[in-house]
This record gives sequence, C-alpha cells and structure tokens, in this order.
Amino acid sequence: YDPASKSIAYTTLTSFPPVKLLPPTQKKRILITGGAGFVGSHLVDRLMLLGHDVTVLDNFFTGSKTTVSHWVGHPNFELVRHDVVESFMIECDQIYHLACPASPPHYQFNAVKTLKTSFMGTLNMLGLAKRTKARFLITSTSEVYGDPEVHPQNEEYWGNVNPIGIRACYDEGKRVAETLTYSYQRQDNVEVRVARIFNTFGPRMNPYDGRVVSNFVIQALKGEDMTVYGDGKQTRSFQYIHDLVDGLIALMNSEESRPVNLGNADEFTVGDFAEMVREIVQKVQKEDGEIPKQSKIVYKPMPSDDPQRRRPDNSRALQVLGWHPRCTVAMGVEEMVRYYKAQLADGTIA
Ligand code: NAD
Ligand code: UDP
Repeated sequence: YDPASKSIAYTTLTSFPPVKLLPPTQKKRILITGGAGFVGSHLVDRLMLLGHDVTVLDNFFTGSKTTVSHWVGHPNFELVRHDVVESFMIECDQIYHLACPASPPHYQFNAVKTLKTSFMGTLNMLGLAKRTKARFLITSTSEVYGDPEVHPQNEEYWGNVNPIGIRACYDEGKRVAETLTYSYQRQDNVEVRVARIFNTFGPRMNPYDGRVVSNFVIQALKGEDMTVYGDGKQTRSFQYIHDLVDGLIALMNSEESRPVNLGNADEFTVGDFAEMVREIVQKVQKEDGEIPKQSKIVYKPMPSDDPQRRRPDNSRALQVLGWHPRCTVAMGVEEMVRYYKAQLADGTIA
C-alpha cells in the first residue's frame, strides 16, 4: 500500500532468465509431461531459454513445483497440475512424454499406478499427438534390456526382463509404452521418437529418492555409512543431466524414429563408485576448509532382479545425432556434491 497515492502497488516478477526471441515460424508449442521432475525441469529450462512456448503437465507425485517456479509468470510458460492417466486437450507441435516415477522405491511404492501411468498415460499422450499431429518423444529406459545378456547394450537387443518381479511395473510398463508408440506410428502415422535413457544424475534430483548417486552423495556429505547393495560388483554407467538434455532435444529434432540409447559409457562397479563419491566429497570438504567426514562403506542385501551389468552402446546416437556425452562422471559428481552441500547448509534439505 502506497500512502502517498492511496493505492495498492502490484509488483510483477520480471527477472526471468533471458530467453531467445524466436520468429513465429520457429517458435514451437511444446508439451512436457513430468516436466516438474528431475529430468523434466532441466528440459524445461533449455527449451524456455531457446525461446519456445512450454506447457508442463505434472501430478507432482515425485516432482515439485519448486523445480520450475523460476518460470511461473513468464508469458511463454504454463504449469498445469494433471495426471496423465486422464486425457488432456491442448494444441501443440511437440510432446516430450516423461511422466513416470523413475527411482525404484518410487515406482515400487504403487506398482499398479506405475503401470497405469506407463500404459494409460502414454496412450493418452499418443492420442493427443495423433489429433494435433504433434511429434511425440517418449523417455524410455535402459531397463527395457532388464538383466542383459548382451554387453554393452545396443538398440537391437530385445532384453531379458522378469515380467513378474518387483521391477516389472517399471520395466514392462516402459516396454508396453514403446509398443504403443510404434503401434501409433504404424497405424496412425504419428511421428515418434524413442530415447532409451541410462542412469542419469545431477542437481534437482530428489536427495531422498533412494537412487545410488543421491544416496551416496548425501551419506558421504553427512559422514554416514554408505550403503552398497549386494557385493557391489554390479555395474552402472552414469551420465550427467546436461548431456541427456542435449541428446533429447537432438533426437526430437532429428529424423530418427528408431530407439536411441542415451547414456555415458563410463562403467563403474557400485563398490568403486562409492569410493569415488567418498573421495570427491572429502576433496570438496577440504577445499572448503572443513575436516573431511569419514564414511564407512557397508554392505546391505541386494534387492531382487537388480541388473548385474549396464553400459550403453552409443554408436547409433553418435551416428544419427552426432551426440556423445561431454561431461565426465567425476565432474558431474563434484557438481552434485556442491549442490547438495549448499542445500544441507541452508536447510533446504535436512
Ligand atoms: P522424476 O521422478 O524426477 O520425474 C518424473 C515426473 O513425472 C515427476 O515430476 C512426477 O511428479 C511426474 N509424474 C509421475 N507420474 C505422473 C502422472 N501419472 N501424471 C503426471 N505426472 C506424473 O524422474 P526423472 O528421473 O526425472 O525421470 C523422467 C523420465 O525419464 C521418466 O519417464 C523416466 O522413466 C525416464 N528415465 C530416467 C532415468 C534417470 O536416470 N533419471 C533413466 C531412464 C529413464
Ligand atoms: N544401490 C546401492 N546402494 C544404494 C542405492 C542403490 O548399492 O544406496 C545400487 C542398486 O542396487 C543398483 C545400483 O546401485 O545396483 C543403481 O541403483 P539405482 O536405484 O540408482 O538405479 P537402477 O537400479 O534403476 O539402475
């Protein structure tokens, strides 16, 4: 309230990150389902900065409004609370369909809902793509290869998935989502893109989502025991979020409709990865003038159906998109350590 003019002054937030001004012919109307999640929010940032119109659909099951709050109020941005299990109408040119919990504790929390999200959510978004003639990209997963007998995994491999195990709601959900995607392509000429994403990490990952990178970084920062499941000999290959976002946008705008692996081929045993995270955390703590925390590595039971090996064969992505990861795992982990460290210090996370 301004006593001089006796009126209420409204302020509008105008300090948005600078977005590109695109001519109308290049500006796309882009729908991102799951856009308030870890991967989705980084994709939102990049597409907004590029100057497109972005609408996010999210039910906030594992995502949060805060991941995209810096865009709320921008004329190119809209955030809609919606569950993709229900149909949704909008005019759009491209759909990035990400909506689906991705960490094992989250997708196993309500397996039936995960299956509904994968099947009905993908069906609804493909129906929307068919009506609007939008190009449709689905974020599938390396989990479609299950516990692989082929190493490294290329896109021709059909996989080895236990259809009734505890991971099946996610793995089989994504497999049927891919089947739906290619059925709409064959039957209704929907333009489709399929990204098979390998383990990805980076800032804005929910620190307590139970995935290995978030668990190890938080445990090491707090000096708590680092929980390696099984004997720690199983392997994973970790890619940093910015590389994935590059790959998703390149794939969407390419002519490649076959599945494309997006992952970093640097493969670690989980045990070696725990040691690497601990070393990086201690290095950062020393650089910040602190006494490095001493975490012990402890061994916990292996969850069932945990894949033994995972490494992408990236030849197709390199050949058709000219894409390859640029960020090393060590660089990415250090970013992640600084991000969680700052959040622990300012009380954003406990
Ligand atoms: P995330 O859990 O952080 O994000 C998923 C988002 O989808 C959240 O915002 C959540 O609220 C939303 N969502 C879930 N169910 C929904 C529903 N029924 N309706 C509307 N919104 C819903 O996970 P993420 O790591 O960002 O993963 C994003 C996508 O990438 C997922 O499709 C996942 O399967 C895929 N993927 C991720 C990885 C990875 O390592 N992060 C690996 C392979 C595949
Ligand atoms: N893992 C672990 N300790 C943890 C969390 C996970 O050893 O605190 C292991 C898990 O058993 C798996 C690997 O790390 O072998 C990757 O787990 P994550 O949940 O991140 O992803 P996914 O299993 O889906 O690849």
